[in-house]
Amino acid sequence: MNELARLPGIGMRSAERIAFYLLKERPEEAMKLADAIRDVKTRIRNCSVCYNLTEADPCAICGDASRDQGVVCIVEQPKDLLALESTGLYKGVYHVLLGRISPLEGIEPSDLTIDALMKRLASGTIREIIMGTNPTMEGDGTALHLQSLIGQFPNVSVTRLARGLPSGSNIEYANRNILADAIAGRQKM
Ligand SMILES: [Zn+2]
Repeated sequence: MNELARLPGIGMRSAERIAFYLLKERPEEAMKLADAIRDVKTRIRNCSVCYNLTEADPCAICGDASRDQGVVCIVEQPKDLLALESTGLYKGVYHVLLGRISPLEGIEPSDLTIDALMKRLASGTIREIIMGTNPTMEGDGTALHLQSLIGQFPNVSVTRLARGLPSGSNIEYANRNILADAIAGRQKM
C-alpha cells in the first residue's frame, strides 16, 4: 500500500483498494502487472532518431515507411506525441525534445535533444518542421530558439500548430489569451 500510494494521483484509500484487488486477483494476472512494471525500467528506452519512448530502436513511427519522413513535428514530451497520435490524422514523424528551455529551472538548450535534431536537418531529408511545443511562455521561447537555429536550413519550412478556441467550447468561457490567439489565427472559411 505504501508503494502504491507514492504513485501520482493515488491516495492512501485508492492504494488500499488496489492492494486488496491484487490480493484477490489470480496470480498470473497480478504478475502481468509486475512484469509490465519491470519492462518499463529495463526494456523501454528513447528512440535513437526521434527520442520517443520505445522497446524497438528505431521506434515504430520512425520505422514506418508509409509515414512522411520529410515532415517532422517537434514536441516537448512523449505524452504530447501520444496525444497527437491519438488523432490518427498526422502522417509525418516526430522529434521529442524531452523538455523545454526554462532558465528559471536551469534547463538550457544543451539539456534537450536539439543537437540530434540539427543532425537530422543536416541530413537533408526534412522539408517541413511543425512546432508542436506547448503554447506557454517556455514552450514559445523554445520554439523561437529552434526557429532561429533552423534558419540555417533555408529549404526547410517552419510551421506551428494552430492555437485558439478548443473545439466544442464556448466563446464566453474562453480566457483572454485564448481569444487573442483565436483572433490572430483566424482562417478564411
Ligand atoms: Zn523514433
